[in-house]
Amino acid sequence: MYDRRKFIKLTAVTASLATLSKYATAKTITSAPGDRLPIVISTWDFGIAANKEAWKTLEKGGRALDAVEAGVKIPEADMKNHTVGRAGYPDRDGRVTLDACIMDEFGNCGSVAAMENIAHPIAVARLVMEKTPHVMLVGDGATQFAVEQGIKKEKLLTPESEKAWKKWLVTAKYSPKMNIENEQHRPGSKYNHDTIGMLAIDAKGNISGACTTSGMAFKLHGRVGDSPIIGAGLFVDNEIGGATSTGVGEEVIRNVGSFLVVELMRQGYSPEDACKEAVHRIIKKKPETAKEIQVGFLAINKKGEYGAYAIQEGFSFAVCDKNKQDLLIPGKSFYKDDKNK
Ligand code: ASP
Repeated sequence: MYDRRKFIKLTAVTASLATLSKYATAKTITSAPGDRLPIVISTWDFGIAANKEAWKTLEKGGRALDAVEAGVKIPEADMKNHTVGRAGYPDRDGRVTLDACIMDEFGNCGSVAAMENIAHPIAVARLVMEKTPHVMLVGDGATQFAVEQGIKKEKLLTPESEKAWKKWLVTAKYSPKMNIENEQHRPGSKYNHDTIGMLAIDAKGNISGACTTSGMAFKLHGRVGDSPIIGAGLFVDNEIGGATSTGVGEEVIRNVGSFLVVELMRQGYSPEDACKEAVHRIIKKKPETAKEIQVGFLAINKKGEYGAYAIQEGFSFAVCDKNKQDLLIPGKSFYKDDKNK
């Protein structure tokens, strides 16, 4: 039977979708393959080694998705890296819980959060994307799924991490605000938020991204930040570009940061200006909190133009393309570079 109300609803949805897609098409950025592409960018100085690994796939004409997965596995495996992967610092109960997500050129995505005993969360995130009808698995369910997929369970707490945790337990001051718990491990950097977020465009012009972290050191057990949340820690739209973030995840989630950056690029913002605007939104909502925290965004558009912006000084990002494989660029920041602050 004809249902008028349903019809009206449907017509309204179709009409708004038509408006939306017209808008999206109008703003689509046309790529210039062969010019800047392929290219891979990622957060922080450890992004250099990660990019080099990703480049091995990209230079052979491989897919951006394979490149970002291979790339972020480098810091995930690094025993000296206490903010990503297997040697990540534990939570306040001494448990290492890892978060990661991945997104491809078709808008497919997969994610794991608060997962224990698996050294490469990014590989599990990709398996969630490719082997399940779901986007996100958490905690024991994520570990169980990884094991079912043939991934080995391991004890992740390294002697060094255990030592640092025991030292932290002496005062057990729970102050995740500045996220400078990691400071001692990255000498010279005051604000240290060390998630790896990576964005790559392959020779065909397709974009993928990956993001992986052990989150805030000594966090509450079960705490999950922005990094495994699609739209917060990572977002890719193959028509427009991609964005990723690092820093105090709670503020990124509150502002759906990476999605916001990509949508701003859709409206015509350059990657740097889009990151800057996303940082401004965070500051505007909580000016007092923002003084004490770090958040950094990194973005790339379909043409391979990239940019970054952070709240505090000290955020850097690595770039790798056919011209240079180990470029490290200091990102601009609100407190150092914004004249209107
Ligand atoms: N964004 C991460 C989180 O909130 C932490 C970081 O980048 O340092 O879990």
